[in-house]
Amino acid sequence: MLGLMQDWPLTCSRILEHAARQHGKQEVVTRSIEGPIVTTTYGAIHARAKKVAQALTAEGIKPGDRVGTLAWNTARHLEAWYGIMGAGGVYHTLNPRLFPEQIAWIMNHAEDRMLFTDLTFLPVVEKIADQVPSLRKVVVMTDGAHMPDTLLANAVAFEDWIAAHDGDFDWYANSENDASGMCYTSGTTGDPKGVLYSHRSNVIHGLIACQKDALDLGSREVVLPVVPMFHANAWGIAHAAPMVGAKLVMPGGKMDGESIYEMLDTYKVTMSAAVPTVWLMLLQYLEETGKKLPHLNRVVIGGSACPRAMTQKFQDNYGVDVIHAWGMTEMSPLGSLGSLKPQFADLEGDALLDLKAKQGYAPFGVEMKITDDENRELPWDGKTFGRLKVRGPAIAKGYYGGAGADQFDDEGWFDTGDVAHIDADGYMQITDRSKDVIKSGGEWISSIDLENLAVGHPDVAEAAVIGIAHPKWDERPLLVIVAKPGRSPSKDDILGFMEGKIAKWWMPDDVAFVDEIPHTATGKIQKTALRDQFSGYSLP
Ligand code: ADP
Repeated sequence: MLGLMQDWPLTCSRILEHAARQHGKQEVVTRSIEGPIVTTTYGAIHARAKKVAQALTAEGIKPGDRVGTLAWNTARHLEAWYGIMGAGGVYHTLNPRLFPEQIAWIMNHAEDRMLFTDLTFLPVVEKIADQVPSLRKVVVMTDGAHMPDTLLANAVAFEDWIAAHDGDFDWYANSENDASGMCYTSGTTGDPKGVLYSHRSNVIHGLIACQKDALDLGSREVVLPVVPMFHANAWGIAHAAPMVGAKLVMPGGKMDGESIYEMLDTYKVTMSAAVPTVWLMLLQYLEETGKKLPHLNRVVIGGSACPRAMTQKFQDNYGVDVIHAWGMTEMSPLGSLGSLKPQFADLEGDALLDLKAKQGYAPFGVEMKITDDENRELPWDGKTFGRLKVRGPAIAKGYYGGAGADQFDDEGWFDTGDVAHIDADGYMQITDRSKDVIKSGGEWISSIDLENLAVGHPDVAEAAVIGIAHPKWDERPLLVIVAKPGRSPSKDDILGFMEGKIAKWWMPDDVAFVDEIPHTATGKIQKTALRDQFSGYSLP
């Protein structure tokens, strides 16, 4: 027997409709690309998104067409996202940190028909436009007065382009399973792969994100998403914040400590989210200037592991709670968050930091398990680590075009490529990526654990561990070190420091010193490149 409830498709236009009706006067503040800080409202964003949808439709954009965005977090970028979805199209976020050739590759793979871009990235677009035959028009997100001369044949200023329309437009009637957005993984392990979000997945993910023990969003929150709309779906904030009418403070193109501090302080931001690198810059700025964070209640930190010292500084020096989170593009992206279950509410000192070093537990909507190589489920004992697999309504069931099919199984589980353990309370801790784990004598050694330990040495700036082929053990760990400026630690210094802190058989067989460790566009250590660099290396 079917239920007798209404069929109300979960579409993203409904999010903005709701924001305009219930929270129409709520503000969205942006550090504009032109310079000044500007303020708009959800009501105005709604009206202008309608104009965007109308203009796109007039350009011939059809339901399902991909429209690229190469842009910072701004109110205009929100208008572009909702306008694209409201015209039935698919917003396709492009990461400006990639090389121009990679951006062109991704645009071609997705067959983007139009592109929204910021002034900042116009030179990149000019370079690649010819290489993307599907691209018909570029909308530069600025006004006529700031529109520069451009080599592009078909470019227009956003404000001029929407001014020709009155906004009298009915949102395209998407079904909830229609595609709404698209984002490619940065290809740490091979060609970039396209993740294709649906309206339903974005709406459900937004609801998940708002939960108290997730991002804890509501209309009295002031949220600064430093996490970019151009990668990993802005951690869902561009859907979740309008859903509950949270005030948004958009950082535009300035992510340095001083600029972020200015936004946090001026607009009394209560919650913010970013990767550790951004917080490192902010903490440095605060230490140099002696400034404080009286309004900020919590920060969500993820994308890569949040260092223990960072959690401690936020907590002890600034009274800011740290929520360590894990996720990935394929998961819309939130997968787990480290808020405190009641049994841990009174934890303090090292015990609290130990818990916060974990990536947290899965919210409703994310199922999680760990398995061995034979797909046998492993116990949640906080020690045994295995392949981390997930499933849920906001998790990909395949990649666009069919790549990476081996990561999805018949029961709907997606193999994240991460290796983790889960404790009896459900808190998960990432110990490695499955391609990076070192397989020695049939056992696994976590490269991340070794790296974290090595960076604790006072002379070490950065550390990376890779497996080197070994005739007897299959693989053994090589520790690659970048020393701090002016320091030159020896191999024995480093290994002596690590001794006794890990199992004997985990000790690296050798230490190599380099000037630089290669990174991906999203700032993660690029182990593939490092492995190439050390291919043929012989251990002592
Ligand atoms: P990519 O870098 O491949 O494009 P994402 O940006 O989606 O992928 O990043 C997802 C990956 O980032 C995860 O699979 C995981 O390896 C890593 N990651 C994300 N959050 C954390 C965290 N809190 N701690 C450790 N690793 C993390």
